Amino acid sequence: MAPTQNTICSKHVAVIGAGAAGLVTARELRREGHTVVVFDREKQVGGLWNYSFKADSDPLSLDTTRTIVHTSIYESLRTNLPRECMGFTDFPFVPRIHDISRDSRRYPSHREVLAYLQDFAREFKIEEMVRFETEVVCVEPVNGKWSVRSKNSVGFAAHEIFDAVVVCSGHFTEPNVAHIPGIKSWPGKQIHSHNYRVPGPFNNEVVVVIGNYASGADISRDIAKVAKEVHIASRASESDTYQKLPVPQNNLWVHSEIDFAHQDGSILFKNGKVVYADTIVHCTGYKYYFPFLETNGYININENRVEPLYKHVFLPALAPSLSFIGLPGMAIQFVMFEIQSKWVAAVLSGRVILPSQDKMMEDIIEWYATLDVLGIPKRHTHKLGKISCEYLNWIAEECHCSPVENWRIQEVERGFQRMVSHPEIYRDEWDDDDLMEEAYKDFARKKLISSHPSYFLES
Ligand code: FAD
Repeated sequence: MAPTQNTICSKHVAVIGAGAAGLVTARELRREGHTVVVFDREKQVGGLWNYSFKADSDPLSLDTTRTIVHTSIYESLRTNLPRECMGFTDFPFVPRIHDISRDSRRYPSHREVLAYLQDFAREFKIEEMVRFETEVVCVEPVNGKWSVRSKNSVGFAAHEIFDAVVVCSGHFTEPNVAHIPGIKSWPGKQIHSHNYRVPGPFNNEVVVVIGNYASGADISRDIAKVAKEVHIASRASESDTYQKLPVPQNNLWVHSEIDFAHQDGSILFKNGKVVYADTIVHCTGYKYYFPFLETNGYININENRVEPLYKHVFLPALAPSLSFIGLPGMAIQFVMFEIQSKWVAAVLSGRVILPSQDKMMEDIIEWYATLDVLGIPKRHTHKLGKISCEYLNWIAEECHCSPVENWRIQEVERGFQRMVSHPEIYRDEWDDDDLMEEAYKDFARKKLISSHPSYFLES
């Protein structure tokens, strides 16, 4: 456990972003006694859960002059986690059964997540800290403080000084596009999942979807409802993979990765199969991108590793006044934001003390060396996978808060297994009622719900 200090100080903190990460960070900072200004370009809270039919002006998002739309949510999206394990620990994401405008399913639609984040912001009066339609354009360290330059929607520019900056700007807006040999002369259309909204435009087409993780698995099935054929190219699959997947339209296949895209419109997969495709949909993830940060070389993005960061949060040379919430890839995102932000708030107040700069650098170097030994590429530095829980509980202990509940961890694991084995039905059929019951009993015990657990479990 980290050492603590008795004198608690209050800092003036800028939070960039009012998505799930920024909202809970603002709450935790204020709880700890700091004064907070949250900046967000959008008109309302919720970040990427603010669905918009609009998308970037360049469907592949490669053009640096394109108009950018922040959200990457598509119309049919439902959560990939059961709601009870997705919500913040002291504000459970439970169904509002008697409100017909709400979606009470266990894996609700994106609209319900936005409504939940709006409820959270209202409950904790977070909006009063947010400057909407205000984009942060430059953040730089100046004489031990932080200069933050912003501009609002009518072009009014402001320059303010803060003691600390917490970056909660999200990392699902700057697409990573797959490199495909031969693609320059391939004549078809291409789009990244960031710009995918509805299947309509793919009506009667032959579509190749690259990537078979959460978005790829969902989007390929969404498009299969209207397309002639959908072929998934999966890098994670063996080179001879060729399998028909069960969908009502009988038109979905999974292959190994693409070998070559030809000028005649054909796509050759590594399994030797060839299809003539109209469109390629890249479900190939995103890049970390902080265009507003001017840290004079202290921070670097190297093959999608944001370096050097102590426990994915603090930059040793500028700690603790610059921090990042939400970088690690793991299933329980909201809880991760909550635990990381409690740590940041406690370190900024001086209640919890970080190791020395040298010790933090040693820890980082050791972490990178471990990844090298395990053969894990740099681009996966922030993907915590199986060690997610250990990571969260380590931080929780540092800042003296409760570890992640056992039922939550098990729900995530069981849900993930169902997602992999039955991607088409895992949101509507499950075998972990026992864990769900445990979750609702836990909420009741902690007085986080006013109704008896059976009210939720039987409805
Ligand atoms: P965001 O929600 O992206 O918020 C960042 C905010 O920062 C935005 O409002 C943006 O306007 C603002 N911002 C950025 N730059 C600036 C700037 N320069 N100035 C001012 N404001 C700025 N997680 C789950 O837990 N369950 C799911 O089912 C799930 N499904 C997902 C599906 C998709 C397709 C994607 C892409 C992600 C999904 N996630 C899911 C992960 C999801 O990203 C996180 O749950 C979470 O919502 C991210 O919150 P955030 O606050 O980090 O970022």
